[in-house]
Amino acid sequence: MQPSWKEVSLSDLPLREDLKSQHAYGAPQLDMPVCLNVNENPYPPSPSLVEHIATAVANAARQANRYPDRDFAELRSHLAAYLTHDTGVMVDASSIWAANGSNEVIQQIFQAFGGPGRSALAFTPAYPMYDEYCRTTFTHLHTLPRTGNFMLDLNQAIDSIREHQPSVVLLTSPNNPTGTALPVDDIRAILDIAPGVVVVDEAYAEFRRHGVRSAVTLLPDHPRLVVTRTLSKAFKFAGGCVGYCACASAIIEALKLVRLPYHLSVFTQAAACAALVARDEMLSQVEAIKAERDATVIWLRSQGLAVADSDANFVMFGKFADRHRVWSGLLRHGVLVREAGPPEYLRVSIGTAAEMDEFRTALLAVMASV
Ligand SMILES: *Cc1c(COP(=O)(O)O)cnc(C)c1O
Repeated sequence: MQPSWKEVSLSDLPLREDLKSQHAYGAPQLDMPVCLNVNENPYPPSPSLVEHIATAVANAARQANRYPDRDFAELRSHLAAYLTHDTGVMVDASSIWAANGSNEVIQQIFQAFGGPGRSALAFTPAYPMYDEYCRTTFTHLHTLPRTGNFMLDLNQAIDSIREHQPSVVLLTSPNNPTGTALPVDDIRAILDIAPGVVVVDEAYAEFRRHGVRSAVTLLPDHPRLVVTRTLSKAFKFAGGCVGYCACASAIIEALKLVRLPYHLSVFTQAAACAALVARDEMLSQVEAIKAERDATVIWLRSQGLAVADSDANFVMFGKFADRHRVWSGLLRHGVLVREAGPPEYLRVSIGTAAEMDEFRTALLAVMASV
């Protein structure tokens, strides 16, 4: 704080009325030996990958006096090729849009399709950012609870869509914080009756178990479907802040109306293209993480805990009468997890084998003491 600056507090400023009681979103960023709280990929890039990305960024710097390609054609074609490879569905670059994280992609969807007098529908427990997109865009959020095993109650969902006619339906598959994926048939049933756009947030798609289908397979027949993905999780590129979606090009026309003019910098575009060129290496630990995830589910269940099925790189487990005590107990052992989901549950991101070892040891000690 510079002593010569006049002070002002937030309550002196003309803050929007609806923001006055709000808190800023964000998981605690604590410096702990074992961080298993924000679903990052625990493996840093290899030295050769670092060099590959750094070279791409250095080349981009040569034209840093110019604004970037507003429509990031090269990045879109890399993303289209990757999605085609991952899902077997032919995806064209004209069906891809990207932004600074899939958070920004979904916010743009709300800016274009939500708004005052309009509503969205989501299913809880849900990703807390959904509240924020609605708040920011003055969209009313309706929520429905998921069932006991964290799936959709399809009849209830259909009734609610008929009643509220939401402009945006948010389906998350695999869901955060529960880890559960939705059957493609449920998504199709919702697409058949939803009047607006249906967003399937597939931030964790690459971790899905064998046989679980991506909603990308529904795109050819469903022009109001938007499937969002990210490089932040499986691609171990959370620091790059790049997310994207696949959808009809008419939806992308709508997103171009609300995006800021040059929202993806030359550096972001170059780094993301380099990461996608090296996709095999970027994704090389996904199978190890899935195996560790399955082992974690089995181990937690063997301890008598309730554990949601997981198609993601995290596991939600409980039930604890006082989850905060368990959370702080783990923290005292240097292990940071997340208080997420229903009040008696915690969520642990899947780390390296060594980190999961520390997690298990710490949890045993904490459970013996509370
Ligand atoms: C992590 C996450 C995202 C997106 O993250 P970005 O880093 O903004 O791409 C989106 N949805 C869910 C459910 C997530 O957990």
